[in-house]
Amino acid sequence: MLDLPERFDEYEETRREGFLRVKELKEKGANIVGVFCTYSPYELIYAAGAYPISLCGTDNVSVQAAQAHLPENLCPLIKSSYGNAISETCPYFYFSDLILGETTCDGKKKMYELLGKIKDVHVMHLSQGQSKKHDFLYWREEMLEFKRVLEKKFNVEITEEKLREAIKTRNRERKIMVDFYELGKLNPIPISGFEMNTTIEAIQYRFDREEAYAELEERTKELREKYERELKGTKSNRPRILITGCPTGGVRHKVIKQIEDLGADVVAFENCSGVKEKKMLVDENKDPIDALTDKYLNVNCSVMTPNTNRLKDIGEMIDEYQVDGVVEVVLQACHTYSIEAYTVKNYVRKEKNKPYLYIETDYSEFDTGQLNTRLNAFIEIL
Ligand code: SF4
Ligand code: SF4
Repeated sequence: MLDLPERFDEYEETRREGFLRVKELKEKGANIVGVFCTYSPYELIYAAGAYPISLCGTDNVSVQAAQAHLPENLCPLIKSSYGNAISETCPYFYFSDLILGETTCDGKKKMYELLGKIKDVHVMHLSQGQSKKHDFLYWREEMLEFKRVLEKKFNVEITEEKLREAIKTRNRERKIMVDFYELGKLNPIPISGFEMNTTIEAIQYRFDREEAYAELEERTKELREKYERELKGTKSNRPRILITGCPTGGVRHKVIKQIEDLGADVVAFENCSGVKEKKMLVDENKDPIDALTDKYLNVNCSVMTPNTNRLKDIGEMIDEYQVDGVVEVVLQACHTYSIEAYTVKNYVRKEKNKPYLYIETDYSEFDTGQLNTRLNAFIEIL
């Protein structure tokens, strides 16, 4: 069993407290929208006066429960999300008034059909690419439809003014999260990647958003000061790793923590557990629906075809975070990321001249030893 840093206990604590807070909020009449994916337009949910909450989908116990209905050979994130829903082990799902899904990958969209039998589910249909004019128009219609669904469900009007306000709020939150993640650009890094990742994930279980983001800003400031005071000018010989691929919330211990225990620093996350969606802000000067459409269409997920901007992001991050090696984490049976990995591997090795390691894994503990051996060998060559 790996040792957990104190901050991880805080994360678990925040998550547990979040369960109680969501119950209290419901008792006071608050509206909750459960979300799964980075394509979820938080701004519309904020503007409807509701709380978006990221639903549980990172544990292996719920994967077993899901397999009563879903095939074994399916992404663990999908199975865990569904398993938590049917076994009522995710209080956030239980208290959600509406679940928002997107037709990102085939597994998810078919899973939402089953979820729809037990909860009110709205699925936004995502365009397949980013560059055609009708990609934009189609996704814009989906934004408008989701706006109407929220208005009807919660009996509210989402005015332009409320939406503009929500855009400003979410942009501010994004900037604070990116500032925190950019601590990874410092060398030596003043915080572990594991801690960065758990801190950001814990924020989604806080409903007092103002307070939560103020605390995160303060933590960034503290760590920058620590760097200036104690670390600046010193040199770490630990290799610097960039994580890319699928979201890593469910494999945080066996991948992120293991890499750091083996003597490397995880300094950057290009995936949805990191800066992927947060770097691009919503244009505050445009028509708000156009601006939201534009922003969310430009999430560089492998479900998009082509997805060339992801390579550009990876390349920039390798340079900006002074990365020595790239570890791509693909969840079992995720076709889009596993196929795109070939392009990413070639780009990282040939264009950026950096070592690359591909890992395909799930939420079980079965491959922990094998991963340890492969990660160790990779870190040794860096
Ligand atoms: S990897 Fe793609 S499908 Fe998965 S959460 Fe991110 S944007 Fe959504
Ligand atoms: S990791 Fe891949 S298979 Fe799993 S939900 Fe995301 S896109 Fe779908």
